[in-house]
Amino acid sequence: MTCKKSKQLFSKAKDLMPGGVSSPVRAISPYPFYTKSASGSKITDVDGNTYIDYCMGYGPLLLGHNHPAIKEAITKQLDNGWLYGTPTELEVELAQRICNNVISVNMVRFVSTGTEATMGAIRAARGYTGKNKIIKIEGGFHGAHDAVLVKAGSGATTLGAPDSQGIPREFTKQTLQVPYNDIDAMLSAIQSYEGEVAAVIMEPVMGNIGPILPMEGYLEEVRAVTKENDIVLIFDEVITGFRLAMGGAQEYYDVIPDMTTMGKVLGGGLNIGVIGGKKEIMENISPAGKVYQAGTFNGHPFSMASALATLDVLEKEKVHEKVNLAGDGLRAMLRDSINDLGLDYYVSGVGSMFKMFFGDIPANYQEALKCDKEGYFEFFHRMLKSGVFLPPSQYETNFLSTAHTDEDIAATVEAYEQNLRP
Ligand SMILES: *Cc1c(COP(=O)(O)O)cnc(C)c1O
Repeated sequence: MTCKKSKQLFSKAKDLMPGGVSSPVRAISPYPFYTKSASGSKITDVDGNTYIDYCMGYGPLLLGHNHPAIKEAITKQLDNGWLYGTPTELEVELAQRICNNVISVNMVRFVSTGTEATMGAIRAARGYTGKNKIIKIEGGFHGAHDAVLVKAGSGATTLGAPDSQGIPREFTKQTLQVPYNDIDAMLSAIQSYEGEVAAVIMEPVMGNIGPILPMEGYLEEVRAVTKENDIVLIFDEVITGFRLAMGGAQEYYDVIPDMTTMGKVLGGGLNIGVIGGKKEIMENISPAGKVYQAGTFNGHPFSMASALATLDVLEKEKVHEKVNLAGDGLRAMLRDSINDLGLDYYVSGVGSMFKMFFGDIPANYQEALKCDKEGYFEFFHRMLKSGVFLPPSQYETNFLSTAHTDEDIAATVEAYEQNLRP
């Protein structure tokens, strides 16, 4: 296995881009592989090595790379041009289909990224309630903007920079942190700042430090407490939306928030973000209301076409039933492997999200930090040599797609066993 070309590209890139990359998690030490092409479950680098991919673009590719239906939708749109600066029929149709599927959503605003979606949702919640403070969960990641870059999951955690420079303390003072799976901590934060909290924003399943799952009853308690205190509950379903079920984690766990942010899977690999919620909140967004939100690329025709094609495939092929079952199977096999090897590790996950924690089962961010992250990173490199591309951090979720075959999964489990062996 040679990686000559990737190594050369990275050394050149380091002079041209901060850390050599366009987004921090890609700066895999000592150098990342550079991708030439990808198809189905496989990704091929510029040196000709092919890997089974569980990174899957960090979440969007539930249907795998280069899916023919999405390719066709983009190609068809290509013939009609790709940016108008006017409304399109595509966005009306997509809005309708999202509202039909996601219970909490009666109205949407399309944006380009998950980051913009959470930024807009928080602004809308503040505008609607007239309050300033927000509560987020420690280790929760909601994109890279000022209000939420506080103890913000994988990238920040792995790079040892939980807070970013360049954000005034005055801004983050408005962001309260509470541990996941701890309703008492949330209650006490709400009571300490009575009447000041506009919103709770949370990933219903913590996808950026794990996944870590909600304990029995936790999401219901969060729902009840926010309702009692007139706090807007925002589920950040940028990972779980259209991944766990057509209606996301809120359908899967049957807990309905006031607002929902989505992205990743919906776009089928093209950039998209969605701010969604109840009409009475959404109508505060401009130009209907006074909460400003705008974007040149909002509702981009490629993203709309790709999202519609994605929804078609998800519905027609009953994707969630199948891929969630495959996830159960893979987790069971990995659990058998660690039992056979006598390791005190834990395999976490739900649906098509999974992760092996090099340590005990974590309930929150502080507990996840106790895992052997250096050990995991060495393991990541051994897996890469075996032809399996896992996300390069203990705190990034692995994603299964419909493109992963039984053979892929068997080869993956074998690689795990081989590389876990002491
Ligand atoms: C990835 C992610 C975001 C940010 O989305 P981008 O499209 O990368 O801006 C927000 N929230 C969650 C839960 C995410 O996983």
